[in-house]
Amino acid sequence: MSAPSGAGKTTLCRNLRQQADFIYAVSCTTRTPRPGEIVGEDYYFLSEEEFQARIEDDEFLEYAEVHGRKYGTLKATVFEHLKKGVDVLLDIDTQGAAAIRSCRDPFILDALVDVFIMPPNIEELRHRLLRRGSDSEEQIAVRLKNAQREMLRWKEYKYTILSGSMEEDIAKFRSVMRAEHYLSRRLSLDLA
Ligand code: 5GP
Repeated sequence: MSAPSGAGKTTLCRNLRQQADFIYAVSCTTRTPRPGEIVGEDYYFLSEEEFQARIEDDEFLEYAEVHGRKYGTLKATVFEHLKKGVDVLLDIDTQGAAAIRSCRDPFILDALVDVFIMPPNIEELRHRLLRRGSDSEEQIAVRLKNAQREMLRWKEYKYTILSGSMEEDIAKFRSVMRAEHYLSRRLSLDLA
């Protein structure tokens, strides 16, 4: 799942995680924790050196620099659960989604379902970021600029959810998951 900062994606993920029929892949990041964020639940917060060491050890399925900080998805988390047939939810930016789309691993490509959450408009985003109260004015400006750039990439995604209320977004996201489970290629029926 991708969405610009402030599109309500974090709240959406938190809600989805409460009645989870999937695993949420906790990413690594070099940014500092926000108040209330929990290590190992929201992110693994790493120093630049620790992040770099993991890049060198080839531990990331993808990683990218977002808003001036590094973020990366750990291969181990994704593979471990997908191999058991458990869905894995990634909350990643448009660069990360593009990297996964162009990865050459057929296992990952087969599992991939990319969903873009489109916020109503930039003004609403600005309000949501201000309400969140966790970013400085400078950070909000950077996030809004990046949001505009990210929103232009919605067509790269298989699905786009036009963000409404939290309940609507959850229902739409769940419909996507349900439909993807009905894909013939994902079923193994033994009719012999
Ligand atoms: P935030 O700092 O607000 O938690 O996240 C900033 C951005 O980083 C969001 O767009 C989020 O989707 C993205 N992000 C979080 N984890 C990852 C990751 O592992 N990889 C990539 N490429 N982006 C991520």
